[in-house]
Amino acid sequence: MGADHTHQAVPSDMTLRVKALESLLVEKGLVDPAALDALVDTYENKVGPRNGAKVVARAWVDPEYKARLLADAPAAIAELGYRPEQGEQMMVLENTPEVHNMVVCTLCSCYPWPVLGLPPVWYKSAPYRSRAVIDPRGVLKEFGLTLPDEVEVRVWDSTAEMRYIVLPERPEGTGGMSEEELQTLVSRDSMVGVAKVDRA
Ligand code: FE
Repeated sequence: MGADHTHQAVPSDMTLRVKALESLLVEKGLVDPAALDALVDTYENKVGPRNGAKVVARAWVDPEYKARLLADAPAAIAELGYRPEQGEQMMVLENTPEVHNMVVCTLCSCYPWPVLGLPPVWYKSAPYRSRAVIDPRGVLKEFGLTLPDEVEVRVWDSTAEMRYIVLPERPEGTGGMSEEELQTLVSRDSMVGVAKVDRA
């Protein structure tokens, strides 16, 4: 572990407590593991990333908000009511026709949870964590995203102190859409940088 890259090498006290509680509740028949999985899925895919989608859609429709977001992400994100509880820094990376950003945590699973919720299983997996750095284009291809050679791919390694969120490109042909409609287009994967946003 590098001095400038602090990660949790062992499960945190909170993780262990949650595991212990889950085991006990399942053992006593108080909760169904499938129901817990469904709840976690909700936070991974539905509730969590909706916060990020609101941030992205606002940036697409409001250039001044976008400027604030790129300059000081925590403050701009807090304008919409989402705040990191542990004071971790967040930075927003803008994708353009020339530059594609993607985010990884090579050592564990650091993730901008105030805007994306819980990290998906693949984000925490050893293959993604190692290969995103070694072969980012290959990993993106597996996600179904093939980038032209002239597009520069930048990989950002998250830490406990610095979490990254990708601001994806606004798709062509969405000029007439409202901010609310735009929110529905923004996927979690596009904010991790393993997908583009498609027009619905
Ligand atoms: Fe990490």
